Amino acid sequence: AHAVEVRGLTKTYRPAGKAGPKLALKGIDLAIPRGSLFGLLGPNGAGKSTLINILAGLVNKTEGAVSIWGTDIDAHPRQARASIGVVPQELNMDPFFTPREMLELQAGLYGVPKAERRTEELLDAVGLKDKADAYARSLSGGMKRRLMVAKAMVHSPPVLVLDEPTAGVDVELRIQLWEHVRKMNREGTTVLLTTHYLQEAEELCDTIAIINHGAVVACEPTAKLLRRV
Ligand code: ADP
Ligand code: ADP
Repeated sequence: AHAVEVRGLTKTYRPAGKAGPKLALKGIDLAIPRGSLFGLLGPNGAGKSTLINILAGLVNKTEGAVSIWGTDIDAHPRQARASIGVVPQELNMDPFFTPREMLELQAGLYGVPKAERRTEELLDAVGLKDKADAYARSLSGGMKRRLMVAKAMVHSPPVLVLDEPTAGVDVELRIQLWEHVRKMNREGTTVLLTTHYLQEAEELCDTIAIINHGAVVACEPTAKLLRRV
């Protein structure tokens, strides 16, 4: 089975108020192989966040089928959700919690037994060992982003999903974050990320799906895609 498989996926938002229904996804088919570092590339408003929010269970799909690591999200939503770690775009966190506390809390929420927790290993993996006991308010944006990556990995999901991981991040931190994402992938995690930077997709991803106006307009190995643009 694939890491993620999406068939005929549609999403219609029905906003309250005067605005009419908005067809955000128009029948998407996507198969993401296990082990890949997969990029969803497209302009703002293309439907990237909608797609990954559906994978995360945060938005209900309108039609279609989605399975994660072989588990259908309708049949077994909680099991499907347990197979992915999601790094949201927003860096919302309690300013007076420390990275160590947040990772322990998350491990508790996911029922990871104390003996199986990887708090130190994760802090090390994202370069936050020195900040393990600092208040979150003292972390830079890049550190917060890396903490969110560690938090998404607490339950050891086989699939890691990142929504615009480097939006609003300066060049130096972007390169640092890329290195962390590559490392997670090398160590066996399937990565799915969204981006509107061609350069980011090109640098990081082995396969790119271009999404525009709620449809996949191309999906190819990065090298092959680049030969055509
Ligand atoms: P749904 O009921 O389709 O799941 P949500 O609960 O996600 O919709 O959205 C609640 C409201 O927030 C919607 O009625 C919509 O008007 C507004 N909204 C949220 N995000 C957006 C956006 N990106 N563009 C337009 N409207 C939005
Ligand atoms: P992207 O992540 O590629 O920027 P989104 O998935 O956020 O795209 O949005 C796709 C389309 O759906 C946009 O036209 C956006 O305005 C609309 N949209 C997103 N969320 C909502 C919502 N909650 N209610 C209404 N429209 C929404």
